[in-house]
Amino acid sequence: MGIFTFNDLLNHFPHRHVDKTNINFINEIIPSTEFVQVAGTLLNIETVGAKRSKRIVAQLKDKTGFLELTWFQSLNWIQKMLEPGRQYLVYGRVSFYQGRPQIVHPEMEILNDEKKEGKAFLEPIYPTTEKLRSKALSGRQIGKLTYGLLGMLSEKDVPENLPDDILKKLKLLNRFKAYSQIHFPVNIEEYDEAVSRLKFEELFLNQLRMVRLKSQRHRLSKGVLFSRVGDHFNKFYSEYLPFELTNAQKRVIKEIRNDTATGKQMNRLLQGDVGSGKTIVALLTMLIAADNGYQSCLMAPTEVLAHQHYQNIIRLLKQTPVHVDLLTGSTKTGARKNIQEKLSDGSLHILIGTHAVIEKDVQFKNLGLAIVDEQHKFGVAQRAKLWEKNEMAPHILVMTATPIPRTLAMTAYGDLDYSVIDEMPPGRQPITTVHRYENNRHKVMDFLRTEIANGRQVYIIFPLIEESDKLDYENLMKGYENLKAWFPEPKYWISMVHGRQKAEQKRINMQRFVNADTQIMVSTTVIEVGVDVSNASVMVIESAEKFGLSQLHQLRGRVGRGAEKSYCILLTATGISNDAKERMKIMTTTTNGFIIAEKDLDMRGPGDIEGTRQSGILNLKLASIVQDRSLMEIARNLANILVDEDPELKSAENLRLKNYLQTQQDKTAWSRIS
Ligand code: ADP
Ligand code: MG
Repeated sequence: MGIFTFNDLLNHFPHRHVDKTNINFINEIIPSTEFVQVAGTLLNIETVGAKRSKRIVAQLKDKTGFLELTWFQSLNWIQKMLEPGRQYLVYGRVSFYQGRPQIVHPEMEILNDEKKEGKAFLEPIYPTTEKLRSKALSGRQIGKLTYGLLGMLSEKDVPENLPDDILKKLKLLNRFKAYSQIHFPVNIEEYDEAVSRLKFEELFLNQLRMVRLKSQRHRLSKGVLFSRVGDHFNKFYSEYLPFELTNAQKRVIKEIRNDTATGKQMNRLLQGDVGSGKTIVALLTMLIAADNGYQSCLMAPTEVLAHQHYQNIIRLLKQTPVHVDLLTGSTKTGARKNIQEKLSDGSLHILIGTHAVIEKDVQFKNLGLAIVDEQHKFGVAQRAKLWEKNEMAPHILVMTATPIPRTLAMTAYGDLDYSVIDEMPPGRQPITTVHRYENNRHKVMDFLRTEIANGRQVYIIFPLIEESDKLDYENLMKGYENLKAWFPEPKYWISMVHGRQKAEQKRINMQRFVNADTQIMVSTTVIEVGVDVSNASVMVIESAEKFGLSQLHQLRGRVGRGAEKSYCILLTATGISNDAKERMKIMTTTTNGFIIAEKDLDMRGPGDIEGTRQSGILNLKLASIVQDRSLMEIARNLANILVDEDPELKSAENLRLKNYLQTQQDKTAWSRIS
């Protein structure tokens, strides 16, 4: 269970406490009873059944009735331990078998006088495993070890680490007391007090680390200096920018501009919902780099997307002297060599591509800026490679369309500078989202025909859990064949893109859709990131119940980009789970990515949210960024104040904090974003 030291044991917290004063009678057990504690005499211990169904069955009798106790495992040991005729205190999860209550693998304890008197205290029950249980380490017995350990410790063994003024301000227990009380509280209030203290400590230390990393980078890092805005930027801005920037886009560009003009290294996360216009922000930033004689690269997670960025950007820069090229896994050797030459002599300003861009043999003359689009598809290690591309670390801008709830962003990316585009370009019509069951498929298909007749294009997305999953692939093919029956050639043409195609094939199919040679794009989630076809106004998501909220939201963002009214249709099987129903409901009631992200976090917890896995956020043991949002805000604010006043933690009040952090440093792997 990851318990190697006394400290680990101390940090192995009970998942619940049992009120020893609360002993039920057997006849009080009803079918809705979940856990129960009863006291009684053990009778009729028998081994019944054979082989796999071999088990021990015993009866517990109190003055109101009988309760059946059953064991399936560790039978020899159980047999030895149980003493017929003795009084036991029994605790466990109740199940009903043939109308009678029973407990399978109950926790058993001989009832002694102290317990009979019901002296007030809460007994801790700890997470354990079946294997440990069979070695006499049940959820109850672990508590005996912890009890013994705490008996040997005093305040100096569990020294305070938080500054006094914070303890006072928030009326927090001291650390030793908190550890004692979280394990062995006398009442619920004591337990709650202990939990608050330890949760705060956890959140505060997390935030302090983040805030300090950020502050250190601001104070100490050396970065490429973009001292001016020159012709490349200015000319593009005044002559070729195809639209007026939104205020949010302007603000973000200013933030980036300020960062890069300081001589410190920028490490910025840019969040903006799908379609909020991050690409143009990236382009303008790269033009500033070019104005200062530096090269930039823009990396996308898929070839399709890299291509799209490339097409987009060369179109925008057509009339300018800025040189742009594309490098992906399928770039031919000759072209690759040519790119390398232009990179080395500095004549290439902007390199767009996939992972290929960060391969070792790609050498820049002076890389000043690296932009990573759709960060969640990009590993930490891959981002780290960017640092080796220049003597001085380039500025880094990570763009993501997966809105991250604020608390999650604070915990996972709290050391980064942070910008948000929270405004959509003008003139977008809201997307109408509906949920339809499979048995209404014909109506949905009729609707698609009407839209196509009106000149619109349609996406139809099939779920793909694993890029290689055979079943998903077969589903996609079956879906494609079905669609061909609904939409026969030559009246209709269908493109299909999926993960098993060669990059070139994908590109051609994509291009046919972009050129409106096909009216329907059938795809797996390949197009999830970034594809932009403004004439496509209908998004059909097949088996929508198989998608998570943020994925559905991402997909929906592919439509609603042009002036036409857009629709998203969530097609599901008829008998879907309540969870899935809830997801469909959320999707049909809001298009705000941040609200959806919060709901996603509520429904699934942080572990499943993309991008959180390597971020250290799951190191939180007690606190939850879902339930403890407000405590997190408090921790963040206090950490900010503290680092503002004493960035190096030099003052006497902060000495113990500093010492504590030093002892922890090599224990925790805090991965940063780059
Ligand atoms: P995302 O943030 O999802 O990457 P894009 O950068 O692809 O979004 O922009 C989505 C669409 O919106 C593109 O067609 C782009 O040209 C357009 N767009 C971006 N900014 C504006 C703006 N300020 N006004 C009008 N259209 C814009
Ligand atoms: Mg994009």
